[in-house]
Amino acid sequence: SSIISTETWTVCVFQVGDRDDSNLYISMKLKAAAEIGINASHVRLPKTATEDEVLRRIVEVNENLEVHGLIVQLPLDSINPMDTEKVTNAVAPEKDVDGLTSINAGKLSRGDLGDCFIPCTPKGCMKLISQTGEVAGKNAVVIGRSKIVGAPMHDLLLWSHATVTTCHSKTTDLAAQVGRADILVVGAGKAEMVKGEWLKEGAVVIDCGINHIPDDSKANGMRVVGDVHYPSAKEKAGFITPVPGGVGPMTVAMLMENTVQSAKRFLKTYQPG
Ligand code: NDP
Repeated sequence: SSIISTETWTVCVFQVGDRDDSNLYISMKLKAAAEIGINASHVRLPKTATEDEVLRRIVEVNENLEVHGLIVQLPLDSINPMDTEKVTNAVAPEKDVDGLTSINAGKLSRGDLGDCFIPCTPKGCMKLISQTGEVAGKNAVVIGRSKIVGAPMHDLLLWSHATVTTCHSKTTDLAAQVGRADILVVGAGKAEMVKGEWLKEGAVVIDCGINHIPDDSKANGMRVVGDVHYPSAKEKAGFITPVPGGVGPMTVAMLMENTVQSAKRFLKTYQPG
């Protein structure tokens, strides 16, 4: 039997620049890690960092055997041109706990789920969906096809044996597509776009959206809403996630799960003797 020390389960959050939203998300990740005893480090490069510098620093973290998870916080906030695809793909696939490298995305799209890191937001959504009942054979509709939400959500639902339709900005008659969904996952970044009347009665509705809209009744003049119009949707949905408090906390939890999974793999691979 082996002794696993949590002190070696180190995750590194890599940031370029100083965006307020990124700072908030990073603080949530660091706090969650601290709560469960994962040693987390935060590497922050200034806005003046060049792409070459960013790539060099990522390679350094890749080569550090103490670090088992490397998260590049997006968007990269630099005054210099940055190829986001190149930067995210510089992360070693075996440390890519966000599941954003092409290697991990490719494995997921082929259904090799046991052999890849699954992006945290869709992974959390899938856990929530599984709790509501059977997924196999259901009609699932995903709105959005981004690398971080929509596309991996499509893949996860597909390999959970749902019949999946993925909608995007060129989809005609979104309401009709939504109306066929037993399971609906929305990651469009459009405040309260999906209306309750579009939904099939009893649908499972998962809302990934985080949108700030004006609200005079709030001290800061803003309120956070999802991509689904919650008040009308909750009347028709069988299950529905609120915003805030639904998908967001699951995302952070899945990041921790992926990090622990990575550390376990590392300890198995690099155990002496
Ligand atoms: P992107 O902007 O990268 O992608 C949005 C997707 O939605 C695109 O595929 C786009 O289509 C599609 N879309 C946009 N408008 C429409 C429309 N009117 N009808 C149909 N499809 C549309 O966003 P992300 O995927 O990064 O994020 C989506 C949302 O999820 C955001 O609100 C974001 O804040 C939130 N989010 C939440 C996380 C969490 O932890 N809870 C984590 C990550 C994101 P096309 O491809 O044609 O442009």
